[in-house]
Amino acid sequence: MPDRRIGLFQPNGQFLPFENFSPKLVRQNSILANPNLNGQSKNALLRPKDWLAIWSIPGSSNAITIWWRLLHGKIPSRQRLKILGLPLQDDCCTVCPKVPESDAHFFVYCPSKKAIWSRTLPSAQSDEIWLNLRYPSALDSDMKAQYARTLSEIWSVHWGNIFANP
Ligand SMILES: [Zn+2]
Repeated sequence: MPDRRIGLFQPNGQFLPFENFSPKLVRQNSILANPNLNGQSKNALLRPKDWLAIWSIPGSSNAITIWWRLLHGKIPSRQRLKILGLPLQDDCCTVCPKVPESDAHFFVYCPSKKAIWSRTLPSAQSDEIWLNLRYPSALDSDMKAQYARTLSEIWSVHWGNIFANP
């Protein structure tokens, strides 16, 4: 049974699940999450401080969507897509064979993403970055903006690479 919580509401109000997206549609959209029945995620209820912390970042609506998805376990990393039943050959990163593409690998630990972080936050360690991404309430507003910009860049580099090398 495909998971229908990852997808997009079309202009006609119909919900299109992620697995039915064309590559073009994936490129055009940061995939939006369909809130579950009561409209709230369990994670959101557990950590209101952290998801509230990311709403105040100015000029970063794209990054906020990505960050929100990260905090709510809705990133289409290959590990998650495989668990959700998408017909992938394996759950490994397309850059690093044999390394499962978890959310952490997707955003921070993959060498292609590490390179981006080391440019935008040269003094930060990967573990620290991953911790701050999951608990953004600890960051001041300048750092939040920096993280948000980097998330945006990682997102577009990631999908750029995927579609350049299908
Ligand atoms: Zn990788």
